[in-house]
Amino acid sequence: MTMQEPFVEPGEIEQARTAIAATIRTTPVNLSSSLSDLAGVPVHLKLEHMQITGSFKLRGASNAVASLTEAERRRGVVGVSTGNHGRGLAYAARAAGVRCIICMSRLVPQAKIDGIKAQGAEVRIVGNSQDEAQLEVDRLVADDGMTMIPPFDHRKIIAGQGALGLELLEQVPDLTTVLVPLSGGGLISGVAAAIKGRRPEARIVGISMERGAAMHACLKAGKPVQVEELATLADSLGGGIGLDNRLTFAMTRDLVDDVVLVSETEIAAAIRHAYWQERQIIEGSGSVGIAALLARKVESAGPVAAILSGGNIDMNQHHRIISGEDVDVSQEAA
Ligand SMILES: *Cc1c(COP(=O)(O)O)cnc(C)c1O
Repeated sequence: MTMQEPFVEPGEIEQARTAIAATIRTTPVNLSSSLSDLAGVPVHLKLEHMQITGSFKLRGASNAVASLTEAERRRGVVGVSTGNHGRGLAYAARAAGVRCIICMSRLVPQAKIDGIKAQGAEVRIVGNSQDEAQLEVDRLVADDGMTMIPPFDHRKIIAGQGALGLELLEQVPDLTTVLVPLSGGGLISGVAAAIKGRRPEARIVGISMERGAAMHACLKAGKPVQVEELATLADSLGGGIGLDNRLTFAMTRDLVDDVVLVSETEIAAAIRHAYWQERQIIEGSGSVGIAALLARKVESAGPVAAILSGGNIDMNQHHRIISGEDVDVSQEAA
């Protein structure tokens, strides 16, 4: 049975922005002349891959850590993410002087373990699956009183990601359409609540990959459903939204105007475009807004802002993609 919580309010996002201001970086916005020419309206790129730790996840994680009680701070935080959330949480915890343990299975590649360790977290390797790693997290919460910080379905996380929306609206006050990479929906829920609070006529469009777009499937089903995870160039967008989702499903359903899906070929083309035309190194998940624009899958009557949400890509893979290779990950394990 799902326990629906009240939506995250603009006031909570304003608070989050203040709470995280000293930890995060204000990221720049660039006007893209090539994409503007293509779309026929100004296209602004929000360069959030330049955020500390390489993605916006630091915003939500910093706000969650800032919201801990004194007792919770002393006992520390835990998470299971091996990707951008894990990096953000590790950095945010260290910056606040809070202990952080990230649990992961034996199957996680060394590069990901190193990425988390580099941000200062303790890494605990347990079992052969994400589920077994989760059991260790549950134990640390039950036995040691640590606080589990989830990657998206948490109001402090959503409020922190929403701070990006407030920042963006100040940088592009006349924006008409915002293109937001969409997975569990923490980023889009926060950004939509922030921007619609101040500019209700703005359109918020979520972009996911065709391979394993969980939120899209859930919206079609009208409720959270299980979706098979598939390997994709947009690897930070993989995974489900949780069958007991409390916030991001309903907020995405009610606040987001449209969801668009892009193919692997379109994602590769967008990574290439970002590099050769915009001089930006971005990961597949951060490129989906550009992918949708290049494929003419979104239209806008006025200025567009596309959030380049992250830059943590394997540089060998990036090199192959920008060199024109047709990199196909569909045969790999998700
Ligand atoms: C996590 C992530 C997303 C998706 O964010 P959600 O809040 O899960 O929708 C998009 N891009 C990057 C780079 C990410 O790390």
